[in-house]
Formats: sequence, C-alpha cells, structure tokens
Amino acid sequence: MNYQYDALFHNVRIASMQDNNALYGELLDTAVAVKDGHIVALIDAQNNREFQQHAEAAKQLIDGNNQWLLPGFVDCHTHLVYGGNRAIEFEQRLRGASYLEIAQRGGGIKGTVASTRSASNEELLKNAVKRAKRLCEEGVTTVEIKSGYGLDIDTEVRMLKVAKQLEQLLPVSVCTTYLGAHALPHEFADDADAYIDFVCEQAMPLMATEHLADAVDVFCETIGFSTAQTERVFNKALELGLPVKAHVEQLSDSKGALLAARYNALSVDHIEYLADSDVPELAQSGTVAVLLPGAFYYLNEVQKPPINALRSHNVPMAVATDFNPGSSPLASILTAMNMACVQFQLTPEEALRGITAHAAKALGLTDRGVIDAGKVADITLWDIDTPAELAYCINGHRPTAIYKGGVHV
Ligand SMILES: [Zn+2]
Repeated sequence: MNYQYDALFHNVRIASMQDNNALYGELLDTAVAVKDGHIVALIDAQNNREFQQHAEAAKQLIDGNNQWLLPGFVDCHTHLVYGGNRAIEFEQRLRGASYLEIAQRGGGIKGTVASTRSASNEELLKNAVKRAKRLCEEGVTTVEIKSGYGLDIDTEVRMLKVAKQLEQLLPVSVCTTYLGAHALPHEFADDADAYIDFVCEQAMPLMATEHLADAVDVFCETIGFSTAQTERVFNKALELGLPVKAHVEQLSDSKGALLAARYNALSVDHIEYLADSDVPELAQSGTVAVLLPGAFYYLNEVQKPPINALRSHNVPMAVATDFNPGSSPLASILTAMNMACVQFQLTPEEALRGITAHAAKALGLTDRGVIDAGKVADITLWDIDTPAELAYCINGHRPTAIYKGGVHV
C-alpha cells in the first residue's frame, strides 16, 4: 500500500519553537506527519474524524503518551575534532603551574596543534565519534565543527573530512567551518600577516573548490588576529562565496562584532566584552549572537555578554557548547543551556530557542530548529512536565526517543 505519511506523531505536547507568541511555540492538539525525512503537515488532532483519516494514511502511528516533542538540537559552535586532550594541563594548573609555564612546556593550543598534526585520521575519527556521541545522546541532531588545530593545509583538510565523516557513523548532520585564523602556527612565528596571506591565497581557495567548509571563521582578538587581518579573511571568503562568522569580544572589546556585522556574518560568538552600543548593528545585519557559557565557566570569566541589550534589540541569541580541549571541554548541550540560564540569566525558553531555532540560524540553516511543515524531521521526545526542566536540572534528562530525518535512531 502507498501511504501518504511514513509516520504520524500524536498524543504529544509540541514545543515547536515557532515564533507564534506561545511559550516555547507550544502547539496544542496537533499531530506531526512525516514523509521522506521531512515534516509534511501539522494536523489538527482535536477533530476526531479528520484525525482518523490522517491516521489511516500513515504507515506508522506513534503515540507520544503525552510526552513533549521537540526539534532536534543544533550545537552551532564546536571544535570537537582534535588530537590528544589537555587533562594533564588541567591537573598541572590545579597543582599550581602557571599558563606561561605550561605554554613553555609546549602545552596550550600549541600542544593541541602538535597532537592533532601527528594523529592519524583513524585516531581523529575515533575520538571525534566518542565526543559527538555524547551530544547526540542528549538530542543533538546537527553539529557545527571547526578546523583550526592543524593550521597547515594537510591537517586542516583532514580535520574537516573527519568532521564530515561523522555523518556516516552517527545520526547527526555536520556543518563544517574553516578556522585557519585560529592561532599562529610556529612556521609563521612573528609574521601573522604572512600567515593570513597563506590562509587567503592557499588554504581558502582549496576549501571552497573542494567543498570542505560551509563557512569561514576567525579568532578576532588581541591574542588572535586583528580586525584588519580578520577583514582580509572576510573579503576573501565572500569572494569565494563562503559565509563568515567570528570569535569576537571574548577577552576584550576589539570591535570585531561591528566588523562582522558589516560583512553580514552568520554569527558573532562569545561576545562577553561586546558594547551595548554595538548591538543595534547586529540587529540590522541579522547576525546571531552565539553565547558560549562553557568557556565563560572554565575561564572563570566575570564579564557577562550584554544580554539585556541583545534582548531589547531582538538579536537572536544562540547557545552552544564550544566543545574544545582547552577552554571548554563540555560534551553537553543541556549543561550549556543550564549555564546560559544560571550565568547569563537567559530564560529557559530563550536557552531552548538558543539550541534550536536560533542555533540553526547561526549556521544559515532554514530547514531545521523548529517543528513545522517543510522542515527536516529531526524530532526528539521527552518525558518531562515542561521544557523548562531541561534548563533547570543538570544531567537530569535524556530524550526517550530520537528521530533523525524521520528515522528512529
Ligand atoms: Zn570556539
């Protein structure tokens, strides 16, 4: 028999995350019809006769037992492909070693670059699977992964290919981002401009022609790259047809966000030191403010991002793990959500929008992050009384079911 729907989810409370004035975009008495990996219709389940007709047209009827149905989560900022880890440095620091001492022993980001360069593809993949799996278990169905621990072409390409390979091994979509301008490799010591030449003239054209990256990112910071260098990368990216995003205002107000807004960046990430007066420009460019409370926590930062200004100018706020070996070894999107509420005073609804609708926007994805007709059928079910529970309790919840592209995983 030819069914109109592959599946029909009913008897669910839906946090659609649509912008419909209801808390969590809640939809009442609604069933979700799925066909060929997409949500094809939202059906009024209040009218019994009409609902019966739709139910008969579905190959599989899924009774949600009055659980909450949510869009699959989007972790829109991670660095989870890397060699080694920095647990030993973490230990050394807590035994009293300074950052400088650790750096002099070849630790810090330089250590991660060295261990990523020397790792085989198999090792990189095996460890990336382990890390991404933790995110998937919490209901993440789309993850962004940046390069930036190779810095040479060979390793950056390997990182991005390994990131993409995760799609074959886990029920997750991967967006890749080329972050060549992450740190200065020792080959270019003291000549950041020459390294930016290399990034723009050699690396980025390859990333574009080989379709290895969906976007380009820059660490724009006093200890990273200047706004002038960032602008050169942005110009090249736009010339190559790649959207841009940037790590900005994490440690100082370098005016990276204003620059990013001028280049219609998809997102500006971190932004603890963003000035209130720069927020209107972000609202105008439609740039998403990505909050990374894990890094704030690990670095014992005290300067908070300008949440009130972002809120009052309707700048969409996303929340992500920033999963990385140095400043945010955080393998939990739900913990990031909790931290965004506790540390940055987001409401649970804002935090949930931050890992669904707004996170998708931060990746330039219009086909996910909300429950609506036409969207990808990335769906999770939760045995909770209210979605606020997800932000409220640390390590209290896992989805009872995950559907990736309509397929139960
Ligand atoms: Zn980052």
